[in-house]
Amino acid sequence: MKLENKVAIVTGGSSGIGKAIALRLANEGANVVIVGRHERDLEEVKKENSNISYIVGDITDSLVVDRIVKITLEKFKRIDILVNNAGWCPVQPITEITVDDYDKAFNLDVRAVVDLTSKALPSIIENKGNIINLSSVGATNPGINLSMYTGAKAAIENFTRVWALELADKGVRVNAIAPGAIRTNIWNVPGLTKEEAKKHEDSIAKTIPIKRFGTPEEVANIAMFLVSNEASYVTGSIYSVDGGMGV
Ligand code: NAD
Repeated sequence: MKLENKVAIVTGGSSGIGKAIALRLANEGANVVIVGRHERDLEEVKKENSNISYIVGDITDSLVVDRIVKITLEKFKRIDILVNNAGWCPVQPITEITVDDYDKAFNLDVRAVVDLTSKALPSIIENKGNIINLSSVGATNPGINLSMYTGAKAAIENFTRVWALELADKGVRVNAIAPGAIRTNIWNVPGLTKEEAKKHEDSIAKTIPIKRFGTPEEVANIAMFLVSNEASYVTGSIYSVDGGMGV
């Protein structure tokens, strides 16, 4: 119970990596507030651990972000940990991208992270807490058709480094996790049959040194380390969890 009496917010906590992180922190005793747009999915995660509660909303809406911080502080009086996990990966070449696509990607992957971090920060500073941002292997190894996503994640990596510098003397640590291919809904390519999807996944797995996709729990292990006191001297770091993909 390394996180007893701590309070964490995990965005996008109803599925994939966010869900695994939320459950991992809750299993260590933290009160975890998960945020997402779909109440039924959030309710399912809450059922798995009584330390989990949820707030329904779209974090690209600043009023929702205000509500997340207000409700968490009213209920728990503190915020120790913020996991900026919610993200979306548009796959489009620049010949097809419009400024609306840019807005959609950057509003979630960048703007919402700034919005929630800045609003949760007074309590995180008061409690000498810490922040984890979800980046991607793509931030430093950008791939074709991924300019919006990898551009957004590159911004997140530099935010992580600069915020770590700015908050170090306040006792707040800021780190990022850069996953490679982790088996979650983000990999569901619309229109593929089950067989085609498996073939697509196998072809990617072959290119990964460890020769398989990672699991959300393997990312949650690193998140747990980073938010714990075992990482007390770790700030401004970007942790690859990618089976060697980035190398
Ligand atoms: P996922 O699709 O399961 O999770 C994304 C979550 O964000 C979902 O729960 C979704 O409902 C939520 N979300 C999306 N838009 C939202 C909004 N406007 N408001 C609130 N919640 C919203 O995918 P995942 O793989 O678990 O992704 C988690 C993070 O990990 C993302 O930031 C993603 O970019 C990053 N990542 C994932 C991989 C991978 O291979 N899975 C690789 C690199 C980085």
